[in-house]
Amino acid sequence: MEHTAQLLCLKCKEGALVPLSDYGSQGAAVHYKAWVCTNPDCGFNLKIRNGDIYLNEPIIAGGVHTARPR
Ligand SMILES: [Zn+2]
Repeated sequence: MEHTAQLLCLKCKEGALVPLSDYGSQGAAVHYKAWVCTNPDCGFNLKIRNGDIYLNEPIIAGGVHTARPR
């Protein structure tokens, strides 16, 4: 039995957050490096890089302006 907890996306509350694993330069697996929402309309994502957490980095490059709140 695999024990996998499914996290509900806190942003849209419709999609689920699924963990993505990556592979380091040495071929070692880096587990749960990023979490993304399965709802394409939501696009919430969370990445962990070098111990820092990045929230909602734009998935699609180009065409998306970085909207800064005034
Ligand atoms: Zn979502």
